[in-house]
Amino acid sequence: MTTVLLLAGTSEARALSHRLAALPGIGLTASLAGVTRSPAAYGGRLRSGGFGGVPGLQRYLSAEGIGAVIDATHPFAATMHRNAAIACSGADVPLLRLERPEWVAPPGADWRDVADLGAAIGLLPAGAVGFIAAGRSAGPVLAARQEARFVLRAIEAPPEPLPANVRLILGRPSEDAAAEMALLRAEGVTHLICKNSGGPAGRAKLDAAAALGVPVLMIRRPPRQPVPTVATVGDAVRWLRAIVANAAGSGASRA
Ligand code: NAP
Repeated sequence: MTTVLLLAGTSEARALSHRLAALPGIGLTASLAGVTRSPAAYGGRLRSGGFGGVPGLQRYLSAEGIGAVIDATHPFAATMHRNAAIACSGADVPLLRLERPEWVAPPGADWRDVADLGAAIGLLPAGAVGFIAAGRSAGPVLAARQEARFVLRAIEAPPEPLPANVRLILGRPSEDAAAEMALLRAEGVTHLICKNSGGPAGRAKLDAAAALGVPVLMIRRPPRQPVPTVATVGDAVRWLRAIVANAAGSGASRA
């Protein structure tokens, strides 16, 4: 039996957990940071909460006898990604990164890559109305541009009160570009600011912006660690099957 730790928090991680839970020879634990109040259902055992940095994760790997780790955290979850790379390398545990491809600008779209939210709002002209799809913690950064207005869309309410120039819309992105266009129009949005998260769920807002000629300020992804990386759930399953087959082969040759 290979004990697998799946670092989760994305739709791909959820889909992968259901595939892995059905495979023989695998004992799966999916791990969440514990920031979402009612997380979706996962396959396998579910644990929640941080490990306590690299040393805590190394202790966990050893205590649980983890034989493989799949890091399927969000492309912007840079700390967990880095900690997993360091801890697995130190403990000699095979690690795979599952990361969805980045969005690419449609032909003719007005996209500009920026380093972070602060850089993005610094580029807005006075009187701009920025639509922010960059996480619920954006509020304090947005307070720095009082001469602009912002519409912040978030799945859960921000932990702190929002500045007066920010209007909150609670909800998930629509997968329907027409619905996203109607929203951008109704809010009088002049600029769209978002993280380059990739994936189908947030794509419609980009198509809507392109159709309306709304410029996009795209926050680029944080740097990746040098670990083997795949882009699909199927490739992650194949990687793990090979690890399990190897483990079974070396067990048989020792017997
Ligand atoms: P982060 O900055 O990389 O991680 C902060 C800390 O949270 C980590 O050091 C770790 O604590 C803990 N943590 C993160 N992911 C964990 C996991 N899967 N299992 C156990 N502990 C975890 O991450 P973040 O950007 O705050 O994101 C938190 C979670 O939300 C991630 O799992 C991510 O997949 C998901 N998410 C993030 C975004 C985003 O835009 N950042 C968007 C959608 C979903 P310790 O150091 O104590 O181990």
